[in-house]
Amino acid sequence: MILHARQTVPRILVFAGLDPTGGAGLQADIEALSSMGCHSCPVMTANTVQDTHNASRFEPCEPELLREQVHALLADFTPDAVKIGMLAGTRSAHFVNDVLAELPHMPVVLDPVLAAGGGTSLGAADLSKAIHSLLPRLSLITPNQAEAERLTGLAEPDQQAKALCDGGCDHVLITGGDASTEQVINRLYTADGLVNEYSWERLPGHFHGTGCTLAAATTGLLAQGESLEDAVF
Ligand code: PLP
Repeated sequence: MILHARQTVPRILVFAGLDPTGGAGLQADIEALSSMGCHSCPVMTANTVQDTHNASRFEPCEPELLREQVHALLADFTPDAVKIGMLAGTRSAHFVNDVLAELPHMPVVLDPVLAAGGGTSLGAADLSKAIHSLLPRLSLITPNQAEAERLTGLAEPDQQAKALCDGGCDHVLITGGDASTEQVINRLYTADGLVNEYSWERLPGHFHGTGCTLAAATTGLLAQGESLEDAVF
């Protein structure tokens, strides 16, 4: 699909890694955004080797290449929202921060990808710190429970959310897909505390790419003017 001057479909700038299973990363984002009626502009931040259980290797893409790709896009049009997934390294995180400075006043959603579902790291050791530098520009960050703990060093969800909001993020959605509770419970916070809880029956089985899919679908809805509380549901 190529959109020219008369735009009818929201365009989402997507930073994400390539997962060859097609379950997570760029492909999950493109499919989720497409199902929300949006067009994805995918910028690949990393390549990975993985199956549906775990990853065995990742290679960050050269930030200079990302810079050229994004400059070509932004010289052509302004996207309606930004979705950030796997950043892999601190250099790409800092580059994305520079891009966000050029794109004020639009929804920005970050799903902090630190490790594959099977536990192998998908980011540099100091990536958490680089993600913190992005917080002031985020409409929403969507860590699962393990990611919220790794990002903040805190064990308790209310405190984790407060730490992320204190860093400058508007909203924090701590997702519960990785918990062992009977229901899946996602909790939405602002700097004022818990805003809402969303719960679903836990489906049997193991799912890959759920975090990417939820964050991308939310970005698509925000780009179409949906309120954040409705978009995360
Ligand atoms: N690979 C890539 C490229 C991803 O972006 C993600 C997403 O979060 C994952 C793997 C991990 O997916 P999951 O934790 O659902 O296995």
